[in-house]
Amino acid sequence: MMNPLSRVRSLGLLLAFGLTASGCETSSSSQPRYPQQQQPPPGYYAGGQQGYPQQGYPPQQGYPPQGQPYPPQTAPQPTAAPTTTAPLPPVAYDPINATDINFLRGRAQADIQELIGALDSQKQSRVAGIPLVVDDRPGEVNAFASCTKDGKKMMAITDGLLNIEAHLARAKATDEIFGGNKTDQYIQFLAKYQKPGAPIVEPAAGFFNPTQDTDGRKVARQHEILDEQIAFVLGHELAHHYLGHLPCTATGVGVTASEVNAVLSSVVPVFNQPNELAADVNGTYNVLNAGKKRPGYHWTEGGGLLTMRFFAGLDQFSPVDVLFGFERSHPPPQIRTPVIQQAASQWRSSGGNPFTIPLPGFGL
Ligand SMILES: [Zn+2]
Repeated sequence: MMNPLSRVRSLGLLLAFGLTASGCETSSSSQPRYPQQQQPPPGYYAGGQQGYPQQGYPPQQGYPPQGQPYPPQTAPQPTAAPTTTAPLPPVAYDPINATDINFLRGRAQADIQELIGALDSQKQSRVAGIPLVVDDRPGEVNAFASCTKDGKKMMAITDGLLNIEAHLARAKATDEIFGGNKTDQYIQFLAKYQKPGAPIVEPAAGFFNPTQDTDGRKVARQHEILDEQIAFVLGHELAHHYLGHLPCTATGVGVTASEVNAVLSSVVPVFNQPNELAADVNGTYNVLNAGKKRPGYHWTEGGGLLTMRFFAGLDQFSPVDVLFGFERSHPPPQIRTPVIQQAASQWRSSGGNPFTIPLPGFGL
């Protein structure tokens, strides 16, 4: 639950950007401030690794050639097992190591298409073609589902969140391949030095060991982790749309529970907790279903759990209150983490066909 001060700050932030909110679902009363970049610029990722140096670049398992279908997969995969353990040549340039924001935006566009492609036809029809817009406000760390004033659905992920997810992927891959605890070190670094509203702080050049940072196995692994994280964040927001939590994609007539909660959001926490948890459950299923369709590495819930680990650590280590929009508009990680774990467990134990709660807004 949020304290009153957080709530006031949250409302102030949202009003400042012309949004009314019921959690990470928002209804916009104005057009997005930033140009909508629904496609990555020419030369950037579009289903393969075009546009990047090929020499010395590791095989990108899980990145199918453009336009080619995924081969069918059957058995659900267990949690987080790096697929790349054999030695690979060092990588001179990697867009995650370089925090190349255009590459990261391109991955978000590609990941959301994989998520939509893994939905059943009814849900898919509700979100097909949904625009994912760029949000480059400095220091903003969030993702949200929204309706415009014209009733059009949209989603956004901020550059700040993509930057952090890239560093987390880089640190987590380093820990998995070489041992150590770069992940917590990065989280503590950011908690210590990040200032509200300022661009995301970058670790010093020596933070990552150069030899480890260019290691081919580590670089390949960080691409898997990055996509897994982005897929969870976007899978959650996508679920708000296809579950009908927003007026522009709600089914039926009359006011929805979400709309009621939006009205009530001035007196209760600004997120609708049942909707948030339903979005986590369905988003986790969506990530695992999309992962199952991938060749090579299969996405797991590990990306969602890493994102939760970051925000939990931020709360723990920050000497000042660096609340990001993501934290203001979602339940705390201590609530979300077990929900994600239980959803993944249910998905696996049911052979990838988990029971869906038969209540409106929960997956029907
Ligand atoms: Zn949400």
